[in-house]
Amino acid sequence: TSFTDLNLSEPLLRALSEEGYTTPTPIQAGAIPHLLEGRDLLGLAQTGTGKTAAFALPILHRLDKNRRPAPPKGARVLVLAPTRELAAQIDASFVAYARHMRLSHTVIFGGVGQGRQVEAMRRGVDVLVAAPGRLLDLVGQGHIDLSRVEVLVLDEADRMLDMGFVRDIRKVVALLPADRQTLLFSATMPKSIADLAAGLLRNPATVEV
Ligand code: AMP
Repeated sequence: TSFTDLNLSEPLLRALSEEGYTTPTPIQAGAIPHLLEGRDLLGLAQTGTGKTAAFALPILHRLDKNRRPAPPKGARVLVLAPTRELAAQIDASFVAYARHMRLSHTVIFGGVGQGRQVEAMRRGVDVLVAAPGRLLDLVGQGHIDLSRVEVLVLDEADRMLDMGFVRDIRKVVALLPADRQTLLFSATMPKSIADLAAGLLRNPATVEV
């Protein structure tokens, strides 16, 4: 398979070619067709397998094909990640692949002042990448509205559970529309992840690499 065979939109194909990507990795080849169909996904993949592009590319394709204003204080796509480093990397990947599209985006994490994060969310964004704790702080203060999220991604879900974020994740999910696409990526599949996935995903495709 090539990225062209996956039917990704032209601005994405151009960005991938500029990034020097020629061939989809196994998680990309396995996940992207399901995600373009709008299905939920359980992805079993470690870092380094290309899992970020496996979710970022079909999400950007959907945003490119289905333009609409970002909801005020809200996001169309929410990616939850365990650490600020990972959140920043995911955001940077979206920016790189979206370089030929218009994309509004921001990252939310704790340990820094919240003023700029609040300001960045005022008009809403297409893609919000967030660590769960600070996200809930800002929701609780009325600065973020999650009621119009169309796609939820949980990245490195096993690490988020190890770090004690399970209650925060459930609180976030309770604020989202029931009608959404949900993606869960994890390097391991302990019972806690299987239980979380069973509660969050609807008829998911499973891709394991
Ligand atoms: P990740 O597993 O998402 O952390 O990605 C690992 C690395 O692989 C990142 O540096 C990506 O830029 C790179 N990468 C992802 N997909 C591809 C691809 N199809 N071809 C070449 N490099 C890739």
